[in-house]
Amino acid sequence: VRETGEPVDETELAIEGALRPASLAEFIGQQKVRGQMQLLLDAARIQQRSADHILLSGPPGLGKTTLAMIVAHEVGRPLRMSSGPAIQHAGDLAALLSSLMPGEVLFIDEVHRMARSAEEMLYLAMEDFRIDIMVGKGAGATSIPLDLAPFTLVGATTRSGMLPNPLRDRFGFTAHLEYYEPEELERVIERSAAMLGIAVPPGPRAEIARRSRGTPRIANRLLRRVRDYSIVHGNGRAADAAIVDAALELYDVDAIGLDRLDRAVLDALVRRFRGGPVGLGTLAVTVGEEADTIESVVEPYLVRIGFMGRTPRGRIAMPVAYAHLGVPTVDSVLG
Ligand code: ADP
Repeated sequence: VRETGEPVDETELAIEGALRPASLAEFIGQQKVRGQMQLLLDAARIQQRSADHILLSGPPGLGKTTLAMIVAHEVGRPLRMSSGPAIQHAGDLAALLSSLMPGEVLFIDEVHRMARSAEEMLYLAMEDFRIDIMVGKGAGATSIPLDLAPFTLVGATTRSGMLPNPLRDRFGFTAHLEYYEPEELERVIERSAAMLGIAVPPGPRAEIARRSRGTPRIANRLLRRVRDYSIVHGNGRAADAAIVDAALELYDVDAIGLDRLDRAVLDALVRRFRGGPVGLGTLAVTVGEEADTIESVVEPYLVRIGFMGRTPRGRIAMPVAYAHLGVPTVDSVLG
């Protein structure tokens, strides 16, 4: 079970869905992005046209899917959901695009993982609401143009650097979602706690927030584990500091919110590679995880809190990481 990854099972998915804010006004934090998006949607509404295509980038769990749902909600159209890995042929995309109703919002998660041929079809679709369908093979092949209903594409990616420029350029608005501040996560937890029917006082609430890796999905998940703990060891309706600590410890969340994989990466970097630099691939093999997960989930947070650095020669550990692991640095031993 990846603490930082995607929801783990159906029940968790359903609860996560229930906790999603339904409007921009309910969406906590990301103030700049919310303002920009509101303007874009308002202008489209006034002119009665479909809104510009939107690209949302950032690590998992920061609210990309939620924002796509909000876009659909605000324009009053259903949301059609797909994902890059599900679009492995241009034909998959053609079927999807040609079935869209006017004004519908199409969400493509992990848009950087779409097949190349589909990507090219998407350029034309985004720009002119038109696709060319190839019929036949070899010398007899012809392309048949097909007009599409105007739609709004919301693309999400954890790796905006992997999007080809022509695709990136066709989004009218690009938002990069940042990790949330602890105060914002406290509000997320307060809202979710009320919905889940568990009372969490400000102190313990702040503690969960501090240990949520800047990520609303993790905040919600830790809250659910805290609630579980209260159900089993308490009265199920309230959680105090002792319950929060015990629950988070049980799930291997450390004092600053790092999970097992974060610590494995740091540990490899500091102990095994003596602080680096070490290449991403080597690091990934050492901890037994995919390089993509390390790069899009683990690394951004460790860099953000100043534990890890990226150099042209590879990843390096920063002094605070040594301190957190209790490993002396050469400097601290000498000086
Ligand atoms: P992503 O698509 O970026 O992986 P999601 O949109 O699925 O993330 O969000 C994960 C969970 O976190 C959802 O349950 C959602 O309710 C919650 N969440 C994300 N952003 C916010 C926010 N700004 N305010 C409140 N809840 C949020």
